Amino acid sequence: MNSLHFKSFIRCKRKAWLDFKGKKSHEVWSPHKAIDKINQFQIFSQFCNSEIYTGLKACENGYQGVIGLKIRGNLFQNINAEIRPQLLVKTKGKSKWGQYKYLPAVYKLGHKTTKEHSFDLAFSSMLLESFQESKIEKGLVISSFDKKVNFEEIYLNKKLRKKVLNVLLSLNECLEGFMPEITQDRKKCTICSWQKFCDKEAKENGYLTDIDGIGSKTASLLITNGISNTQTLASYSEKQLGEKLSKFNDQKYEKASLFVKQAQAYISGEPYRISNKNDTNDLLKKTCSGFYIFDIESNPDDKHDFLYGFLKINNLFTKKKDLIYKPILNLKNNKEEAYRKIIKILFLQPEWPVLHYGETEKIAIINIAKNLNFSFEEIDLLASRFIDLHTLIRKSWILPLKNYSLKTVSNWLGFEWMQKNVSGSKALYWWIQYQITENEIFLKKIIQYNKDDCLATLQIAEYLIKNQLKKN
Ligand code: SF4
Repeated sequence: MNSLHFKSFIRCKRKAWLDFKGKKSHEVWSPHKAIDKINQFQIFSQFCNSEIYTGLKACENGYQGVIGLKIRGNLFQNINAEIRPQLLVKTKGKSKWGQYKYLPAVYKLGHKTTKEHSFDLAFSSMLLESFQESKIEKGLVISSFDKKVNFEEIYLNKKLRKKVLNVLLSLNECLEGFMPEITQDRKKCTICSWQKFCDKEAKENGYLTDIDGIGSKTASLLITNGISNTQTLASYSEKQLGEKLSKFNDQKYEKASLFVKQAQAYISGEPYRISNKNDTNDLLKKTCSGFYIFDIESNPDDKHDFLYGFLKINNLFTKKKDLIYKPILNLKNNKEEAYRKIIKILFLQPEWPVLHYGETEKIAIINIAKNLNFSFEEIDLLASRFIDLHTLIRKSWILPLKNYSLKTVSNWLGFEWMQKNVSGSKALYWWIQYQITENEIFLKKIIQYNKDDCLATLQIAEYLIKNQLKKN
């Protein structure tokens, strides 16, 4: 076992097992991991004033920062382990290399320091101490906020080390045993490289957490009440189930009805229409003389929207290949120019609604309008043109799907992205690659991806408009 298995184990036992014994062909490359690695390197490099080198030689030479070191050793009871510290930072002290020693450091995304960070540091220190022949009292958690690098010291006391030893014992046992169950907290799965593999098994076994709105707590509540899979859930009546959902108070019957219908749709593969004529009729009326589809690509950690894409639709009968798509890149030094272009497009057709999927797009436009000193009335008027199809589809349909993301819904409607295995995080990965290499190929990929996002949104709009004409 190594530090990577250990880190995975803290998140999900099954992930550690799959990383160790799973078939690599079932694993899907994760852009999150790659983005994390790039960010990590940039922040470490800043922290060490660019004095960052790789491997054992770097320790012997006493460089400020050392990466890429693997240290093997015996932990206890003949259990061998390997640590791969993210970074070693030189500090005062005495070690086998001279009048200095190293402390382990980890990178933190976001504000919260979790046990994942402190456990990782404690594990690294256990083997590093004997390797460098020097005691380690603390480790560092390095993060960056608003372009400033911060660090926090974590004391690696006896209590923490003991906890880590216990986790390592369970990890060792887990890796020698059978594959653990899928985690109850399926939120963890969204950025996991084994997601496809686990999703397949969850669906086959009728996992309750496959039902939209059912998280780990509701799933346990249902299981204690004898409802252990989606099949059983689908066979319940709203009243029967509502009585078991007292934790939702006044909303218990409403929730029960949603869960039962969602489970029925999921099993049958058939969508269920929630009577909601007003909203969808409105969509038909508003879009009949033309509309825009709008989609943004962003870097949430940098709070930077790097691409705004507009698709112009004069009417729904226009062939896809004749639609006009306009990408506006927001390179860091031309923010104002990008904003002006966006506003210009929006006011070329001042009556047209702007269809988007999710809340991000409307928030971004309001911020742009504020930045350009629009009055309150002008901002309100502009914002009122935005129609969020994600909210609309959830209000008017129960779909036979696990979630209502743009990808899931439009894939179900038969839409395919031109580039395979793409996602918002892959686009972000390309953006980061573009910033490092300035190779235009990455921009082309991002633009193609965004255009497809717009076309996928259009497919959902078409579904909503066409199906509202049908009777319930
Ligand atoms: S997809 Fe979910 S259950 Fe499967 S290994 Fe990853 S985190 Fe664990």
